[in-house]
Amino acid sequence: MWRVQLHKIDYDEREFNIVNEVLNSGWLAISEKTQNFETAFARFLGHDTKCLAVSNGTAALHMALLALDIKDGDEVITPSLTFIADQNVTNMVGAKNILADITSMDDWSMDPDDIESKITPKTKAVMIVHYAGFACDMERISALCKKHNLFLIEDCAHTPGADYNNRALGTFGDVAAFSFFANKNIAVGEGGMIVTRNEKLLENLRLLRSHGMSVPSFDRFKGRAISYDVIKPGLNYRINEISSALGLVQLEKLRTSNEKRKKLVEHYYKRLDDVSSISIPYRFFTRGKPNYHIMPILLRDSLDRAAVIESMKQAGIQTSIHYPAIQNFSAYKDIINPAPKAEYVSAHELTLPLYPTMTIEEVDIVCDELIKYCV
Ligand SMILES: *Cc1c(COP(=O)(O)O)cnc(C)c1O
Repeated sequence: MWRVQLHKIDYDEREFNIVNEVLNSGWLAISEKTQNFETAFARFLGHDTKCLAVSNGTAALHMALLALDIKDGDEVITPSLTFIADQNVTNMVGAKNILADITSMDDWSMDPDDIESKITPKTKAVMIVHYAGFACDMERISALCKKHNLFLIEDCAHTPGADYNNRALGTFGDVAAFSFFANKNIAVGEGGMIVTRNEKLLENLRLLRSHGMSVPSFDRFKGRAISYDVIKPGLNYRINEISSALGLVQLEKLRTSNEKRKKLVEHYYKRLDDVSSISIPYRFFTRGKPNYHIMPILLRDSLDRAAVIESMKQAGIQTSIHYPAIQNFSAYKDIINPAPKAEYVSAHELTLPLYPTMTIEEVDIVCDELIKYCV
């Protein structure tokens, strides 16, 4: 279909084998593979984190808000350049989204000054996203959350393997939410991880994940328990063993696959740095190690994005937009917080293909086409 796809999964016999192992075990529901995945992920993040694997990243974000008791009448400061899950979960618990703008045309992370200017007596939490796997300014954001007594929630959907000055993203917030959707750096189809360093919160989250039940079904199956109590109302946001097994292998491969992404991105930089009608965000990033989740560029005003996308498509190259402006969605047209920089990026951003098994030649194909159009 496409000459160069936007994204491709990076599976080899290791993923096939471990899925076979799960199928042969005859047990698909949350059990040992999931526990192993949670332990491995917590070790990978370090900093005394505790992890619970869940059905997807949106579930993790939803659980974070529920566990922190954010509800009707509360305000949550959310990113203006993000996937709509952030706003949706905030809305679903009855809280109000207050958008904070990005920092600049080079730094698309949330602006700590704008966050602080939007704090009111109703603000309960700040939800941040580390766009494309580039860390937000955690020193300033952590400090302002502390100063104003606000919960910090990290949307880490883009971040596996990325850090802020050598400390893994996902270890700063009261809660962090990872996504292992099919196109993320750890790809399992559908899956997520909720991360906290707070034991009490962890127990609450564990109950929320599975109907508020005291004993997981695995323990009953193994004969360790015959009944259960329901301690508080909960949901079913459990992951399954196939996803956890894939997650274990993908986590093992993460360092190598992120290094492959880095090489490809560096080649993109080499090819595109001198193209005057585009610019590349985070080009001289100094807050830590990114994981190059996606390859975003910004088209100058003189370029018609729809026409660029169409000409790339004609050349067999798949592109995307991260992200459409929230205010342009019907459900969010009444959001009035100004975030003009994010709106500008939403109107001019273009995401180029990037995935670990991509070749340098494929990067060249993309750049050749883009340059034809952009110079
Ligand atoms: C993918 C993504 C999510 C949602 O994760 P799912 O696993 O698809 O529910 C949330 N936020 C951001 C920034 C994402 O990229």
